[in-house]
Amino acid sequence: MVERLVQHKHCRQCGRAVPGKDVFCSKDCENNHKRMLRKKKNQLLLLYVSSFVILILILLLSWGFPL
Ligand SMILES: [Zn+2]
Repeated sequence: MVERLVQHKHCRQCGRAVPGKDVFCSKDCENNHKRMLRKKKNQLLLLYVSSFVILILILLLSWGFPL
């Protein structure tokens, strides 16, 4: 099996071959990808914040803090 190593990448959003140094095939894909990343980041942040809040609540309850 012969595999040619051509200088191209695949679009990180839709997977199409992209010539040169570009990571995305179009501005649309770039924007979509950025939006997706931001959404993921927000979800992760929300997860951190909620687990932190739960941890604090558990600590307060274990200290007998009247809630
Ligand atoms: Zn694309």
